[in-house]
Amino acid sequence: MRIGVFICWCGSNIAGTVDVESLSEKAKFLPDVYYSEDVKYMCSEIGQESIKKAIKEQKLERVVIGSCSPRMHEETFQEVLKDSGLNPYYVEIANLREQCSWVHDEGEETTQKAFELVEKAVAKIRFAKPLTTETLPVTKRALVVGGGIAGIQSALDIAEAGYEVDLVENTPSLGGRMAQLDKTFPTLDCSACILTPKMVEASSHPNIRLLTYAEIEDVSGFVGNFDIKIRQKAKSIDHDKCTGCGDCTEKCPAKIDNEFEEDKEIRKAVYTPFPQAVPNKPVIDRDNCRYFQKGKCKVCQKVCPAEAVDYEQEDEIIEERYGGVILATGFDQLKPEGWEEFGYGAHPDVITSLELERMFNSSGPTGGKVVCPSTGREPKRVVFIQCVGSRDKNKGNAYCSKVCCLYTAKHTLLLKEKLPDTESFVFYIDIRTAGKSYEEFYERARSTGAKYLKGHVSKVETDGKELLVRSYDNSIGEQIEVEADLVVLASAIKAKGTTEGLAQMFGATGDKDGFLSEAHPKLKPVETQTAGVFLAGACQGPNDIPDTVGQAGAAASKIIGLFNRGEVESLPTTAEVDASICSGCLKCEPVCPVGAISSEQIEEKVPGGVVTRQVAGVNNALCRGCGACTAACRNGAMNLKGYTHRELLAEVDNL
Ligand code: SF4
Ligand code: SF4
Repeated sequence: MRIGVFICWCGSNIAGTVDVESLSEKAKFLPDVYYSEDVKYMCSEIGQESIKKAIKEQKLERVVIGSCSPRMHEETFQEVLKDSGLNPYYVEIANLREQCSWVHDEGEETTQKAFELVEKAVAKIRFAKPLTTETLPVTKRALVVGGGIAGIQSALDIAEAGYEVDLVENTPSLGGRMAQLDKTFPTLDCSACILTPKMVEASSHPNIRLLTYAEIEDVSGFVGNFDIKIRQKAKSIDHDKCTGCGDCTEKCPAKIDNEFEEDKEIRKAVYTPFPQAVPNKPVIDRDNCRYFQKGKCKVCQKVCPAEAVDYEQEDEIIEERYGGVILATGFDQLKPEGWEEFGYGAHPDVITSLELERMFNSSGPTGGKVVCPSTGREPKRVVFIQCVGSRDKNKGNAYCSKVCCLYTAKHTLLLKEKLPDTESFVFYIDIRTAGKSYEEFYERARSTGAKYLKGHVSKVETDGKELLVRSYDNSIGEQIEVEADLVVLASAIKAKGTTEGLAQMFGATGDKDGFLSEAHPKLKPVETQTAGVFLAGACQGPNDIPDTVGQAGAAASKIIGLFNRGEVESLPTTAEVDASICSGCLKCEPVCPVGAISSEQIEEKVPGGVVTRQVAGVNNALCRGCGACTAACRNGAMNLKGYTHRELLAEVDNL
């Protein structure tokens, strides 16, 4: 066997710490290594050409590259082998950058570690077998989960490209968080004025099927062909008959906290979430309906002139196949209840920014008036506190919530407009205004009279009638106190509680804060680790509206590209069973997360005849190559192609 070893300098990324020249020389003495060289940038055209040349001239059969992580350039080097007439999976990458040069100082020991990584890769590639892929057709129908601005924009982009989309939203209406906003920064556009036309367009687009009040029940399959079950929750109102007159809502006696108004108003059990809702027809919230809970009421049925109320309606399971999926499930805002320092929940005049946002809105709980909830009177002095639950490792989240500096600036401007004589104070740690026209917008807020005070608020005293905000003022180096009529907390953006369950169903991963992880933070920002599943908006992390819309377009373009190609390649690294040693115990079956393993009957020659026995069989189209089954198999009969026991043990032996 003739193996070639190629060591990349990665500029000074590797060569600054590892002695690449001596490493390349030493690699020549490894078993079956026929050729070795070091190159400044292996991924460059010159680097790739040098590999091709060596494969041809040295008649190389396998290749080991010492470079950056395989996540960066494994596919690049597989293409190089393919172009050179070799099986593309005859390449092994030793990660000399992330696993060596970036984490160690320069020195002999670092070069020795790099050598051992190369040695391990050579040991593995000696046992590599050629791998193949199959071409599979793609179902040209997309699923978008989440009906906020990210989901709406993604669905519209895919639909406009000519493909069918199902847009699934678990509340009764499209709109998401953006529907709760009064105005948007930095232009102070009315949020509903720019969002509502998009909601209407999505609901009436011939290529979009809108499924509101619905949730994902089950996911199986793989890129190009996901089989997904969607639970359409019973709305208890026949929307074909309902005219949206609202008589049922008006007469319903059940009163519940209104989540759209951040629980600052009540809604009925039969309700449409907000005036511009799409669809603008009610649903019955069965958990709070008197008839469903106590068996008595039926007022809505009596008053409905269209006879649309249908208590017998049942949940429906919709089963559909999709080629690609976009997750756009948005975010929640932290409610710092029980946090003693801010007094939220202890005093009615300490509110969150989203609660203030609803106060600004003319269809909100106060009809657009900013008032102190305790008295209903206009505040004379409002204190805004930023970074509540953000940038705080001890309490809350270590990350920055990205949008709070700008929406607080927006709130001070809107307050000035509504109540010109009211004073605004903003306590901040730093001001972050990265984004087009954001710095100018913030300057405008400061120049209208909002007083910005750099300091970390230690306590909002709520004991007496007045609110007293205590903080250290960094600019004068002293403790200060500011009396307030209303305190507004810019509390953190956090991952939705439902995100984890959804991620598990789609095989996506979450980060330490519960947001969904992109496949690569720079190069694959809208992809997940599951091929064919993409991300848009704040389900991936705090995001503003322009970036969310940009991400939605990017995710949609990935799906459009997939559908335009029309086919996908199956994974080469799937599991395979060695039937000769499989005992048929099927311990592997329940551990497979995608149900790729089932029992098969095989005929086997034994002395005196042929017997039929049970063994495990793997459906290659379904297998995701996770390797869980290989660990569950007691006989070592289950192997992952490209990572066989033999290959992995060869690596371990050379550690
Ligand atoms: S049955 Fe009664 S409580 Fe239930 S939605 Fe209708 S009116 Fe409201
Ligand atoms: S490697 Fe095994 S457990 Fe993982 S998906 Fe494939 S068959 Fe299922």
